[in-house]
Amino acid sequence: MSSTILIVEDEFAVARGIQYALQQEGYVVTVARSGEEGLDFAVHQAPDLVVLDVRLPGMDGFEVLRRLRAAGVKMPVLVLTARDDEVDKVIGLELGADDYLTKPFGLRELMSRIRALLRRAYGDLADAAGGRVIRHRDLLIDLERRRVQRGNRRISLTATEFEILRHLASRPGRVYSRRELLELLRDYEALDQDEKTINVHVSHLREKIEDDPSSPVFVLTVRGAGYAFAER
Ligand code: CA
Repeated sequence: MSSTILIVEDEFAVARGIQYALQQEGYVVTVARSGEEGLDFAVHQAPDLVVLDVRLPGMDGFEVLRRLRAAGVKMPVLVLTARDDEVDKVIGLELGADDYLTKPFGLRELMSRIRALLRRAYGDLADAAGGRVIRHRDLLIDLERRRVQRGNRRISLTATEFEILRHLASRPGRVYSRRELLELLRDYEALDQDEKTINVHVSHLREKIEDDPSSPVFVLTVRGAGYAFAER
């Protein structure tokens, strides 16, 4: 079954371009030209994904997103921003965006983000590449800027801790053995090739991101197998 996508964008040329590209890939696309119209459609028709422009006449994209999430609507939302301060607002205010793109962007890039978000939300988790922002509860991982936050609190990770988190969180539920993590990190940093090294880094990572490191909700231990990031 084709995925349904809602585009909320008042600029005709931008909306038409995205709509055309998505239809070429077989998606069923609806365009809303105002925040009010977009919110109404998203709540009542429940599309699989929403592409939401920040700048809209009347209710802006931030408000649409806030109300969507307040209404308990959980489909992935990719926000289109025009400036870096809007990106900060998307990331910092925990509005519930799953990814963002800053204008001008390439349609190919948008398509690959949309595919990744759909896979992550509905599809084969093992294939999910993820978008630029990975979100779980109030944990935000901005892959592009290599920034991690819990709510508005910035968390400082070492390069190795970030890489472990990035690998795990990019594929929620997928179990990584310690050996596999060592292999993945090998290109990144010269690590002691003892698998216990991974335990130490994971333990430090948990101390930084978990409320209670002894009972983690993000980086889980899978007994006898390794580690996995929590699924939504
Ligand atoms: Ca606009």
